[in-house]
Amino acid sequence: MTILQTRPEALRPSGGTLIEQFEYGLDAPICLTWELTYACNLACAHCLSSSGRRDPRELSTEQCKAVIDELQRMQVFYVNIGGGEPTIRPDFWELLGYAVDHQVGVKFSTNGVRITPERARWLASTDYVDVQVSLDGATAEVNDYVRGPGSYDTALRALANLQDAGFADAKISVVCTRQNIGQLDEFKAIADRYGATLRLTRLRPSGRGADVWDELHPLPEQQRELYDWLMANGESVLTGDSFFHLSAFGESLPGLNLCGAGRVVCLIDPIGDVYACPFAIHEEFLAGNVLADGGFGQVWQRSALFTELRSPQTGGACSSCAFFDSCRGGCMAAKFFTGLPLDGPDPECVQGYGEAALADDRSIPAASQDHSRRMPTRNEPVMLTLQRREDAVVAAATPPVSACAENPLAGFVAPLEGITS
Ligand code: SF4
Ligand code: SF4
Repeated sequence: MTILQTRPEALRPSGGTLIEQFEYGLDAPICLTWELTYACNLACAHCLSSSGRRDPRELSTEQCKAVIDELQRMQVFYVNIGGGEPTIRPDFWELLGYAVDHQVGVKFSTNGVRITPERARWLASTDYVDVQVSLDGATAEVNDYVRGPGSYDTALRALANLQDAGFADAKISVVCTRQNIGQLDEFKAIADRYGATLRLTRLRPSGRGADVWDELHPLPEQQRELYDWLMANGESVLTGDSFFHLSAFGESLPGLNLCGAGRVVCLIDPIGDVYACPFAIHEEFLAGNVLADGGFGQVWQRSALFTELRSPQTGGACSSCAFFDSCRGGCMAAKFFTGLPLDGPDPECVQGYGEAALADDRSIPAASQDHSRRMPTRNEPVMLTLQRREDAVVAAATPPVSACAENPLAGFVAPLEGITS
């Protein structure tokens, strides 16, 4: 959906609460995620962007700098950079420096593969840069089950390097799963040990996450355990507002408690496509492209999709729920990728309506893209292929679909030391 149209400023209320203002959208996103590449040295089972192979159309260094220039003009004060693994772009550090020099702060997510002692010292010397290391298990067994062998050690080594370099307050980002909900205290202890802050996020059935959601998403009793833990520990833990559906247990969790897709949140993907949310990489939520549609500002402020998302929404089947004001029907992406109506309950509705909806006939939308290294991977048991030697033998015997399928870094011009694929 790339049609541009005039923004209905008249719809935006001149008064009201901050959240009411946010629902009608802002001139610039509060939470802009920019995935710089689909290339990744890992193959996490639940990767929201189905990353693995670089897309040959990814934005060039100069195109990325033009985007940063525009973010500066729009007064976007910081951007979340991710991927894929962004640090394996040869120009990653150059782009990071360029953003900082242009008053665009950066928080980047990494599996830690490139956070060497030298890089950690450089990061510690910069302002406006935050580092978020992904860790999905407080033990190697739990983490490596979804993120792949060795990834736990890589993440902890990166955290140690950051701490040794004097980098203050790195973030440890955890996707909450059925396997790690019982480790919340251990995650907090790891964060404390490295002088870091714990950040918990919700598993969404997006990207490869759709293939493993049934196995990984927390059980109803674990949702309650998570809610109770957040109520007790929430002040020292970040959540990115991702658990507002849990507010239907009672007291609201801190945060906006609102689906910000296209209102305060959006994603720029590696080829410049702009989606309503990082968890909604699908043509249904494609608002435009920074190259084809007049720049990011035009897409953010005038695309038909974002205009529609900012228009008054009905609560649909949820509107009669006593908890609608805090839960708002939950996450749009979670509903879409489980084939549930967008105006109905969240698949993890804590009042139980999601389970009932999931039991009805539904059609799960096909992925509109997949950058996994060995194609196709959707609907395969990705986790089981990560560690089994016999699968590696089968994979080795399967001809690659393309050079990119064989090497996730194909097309990058500079040699990439220290990366195994
Ligand atoms: S779609 Fe879900 S993840 Fe995206 S902004 Fe809305 S609630 Fe958050
Ligand atoms: S019925 Fe809808 S509003 Fe109520 S708790 Fe469930 S998802 Fe939230």
